[in-house]
Amino acid sequence: MILVIKNDITPEQFDHIINKIRELGFTPHISRGVKKTIIGLIGEQAEKYKEIFEAMEGVEHISEIEKPFKLASREFKEENTVVKVNEEVEIGGKKIVVIAGPCAVESREQIFTIAKLVKEYGAHLLRGGAFKPRTSPYTFQGLGKEALEYLKEVKRTLNIGVVSEVMNVQQVEMLVEYVDVLQIGARNVQNFDLLKEVGKVKTPVLLKRGMATTIKEWLMSAEYIMSQGNYNVILCERGIRTFEDSTRFTLDLNAIPVVKSLSHLPVIVDPSHGIGIRNFVPIMAKAAVVAGADGLIIEVHHKPEEAMSDGPQSIYPSQFNQLMIELRKIVDVIGREI
Ligand code: PEP
Ligand code: MN
Repeated sequence: MILVIKNDITPEQFDHIINKIRELGFTPHISRGVKKTIIGLIGEQAEKYKEIFEAMEGVEHISEIEKPFKLASREFKEENTVVKVNEEVEIGGKKIVVIAGPCAVESREQIFTIAKLVKEYGAHLLRGGAFKPRTSPYTFQGLGKEALEYLKEVKRTLNIGVVSEVMNVQQVEMLVEYVDVLQIGARNVQNFDLLKEVGKVKTPVLLKRGMATTIKEWLMSAEYIMSQGNYNVILCERGIRTFEDSTRFTLDLNAIPVVKSLSHLPVIVDPSHGIGIRNFVPIMAKAAVVAGADGLIIEVHHKPEEAMSDGPQSIYPSQFNQLMIELRKIVDVIGREI
């Protein structure tokens, strides 16, 4: 349930409402929009107390959020959320944000080489896995802490924010010391303990959609994070499982307008995992931007044939450069920037 507050409410009336919400056992979530301030009542069966709040001074009207996701819903917050990653990067505004880099950090030399190139070509953030969720336990699992140290060095030297995956609850504390965005991988989208843990920190969270997760389930996962107080959630469509086996996954571009209508959170797209075939990544990246994505996350490798993970879907730096050139033209047509 949400309370829409009158514009001329006094501070005393406002405090009174907040105290009443707490007294009844709910958590108030205040959202000050450009046009309206609204207070969300988080907790079970808030509707029972509707009449009490209707009678309070300063309450303009009350509306019930029908959807199971509350904080993540458009009903709760009408305007788009802009997630600030660091001083320079904002995701969810007019500007399309491009995150690029290798699937995994493999060595100091590898991450520096790729980072320099993607930054030069216009990437806003660097990606690179330190802990890799691999299908086989016998394949490269990531360099772990060593990779995080390299990422820290790259970040400092090149002045570029970094995105890296957190695989379990125990890693959260360490990762927040190194990265600007915590990535929750597709396989962990319903690891509720992990979602709650990243909800307790302030670092933005890039929440990938699971390969068999409906849009509603995915938004419920975002709700888990937000329910703990971290509202800096970026949703990432990365392809779903369908009957089609010509591509690695099926990139669900439908999800972009659907999620944007249901939620105020920014939505980015990962065409690399979505299609899984290097030469088709750029066209799907462009399609995603035209379909309304707020950003992209793309795997780039200077020697993809030697990559320790996801080489076949990693584009060459030259392809990334070309894609950025084309995106600069596309954003002009659709009224965005890059
Ligand atoms: C990745 O980004 O390298 C990755 C493992 O992604 P996903 O969780 O979407 O499979
Ligand atoms: Mn990958």
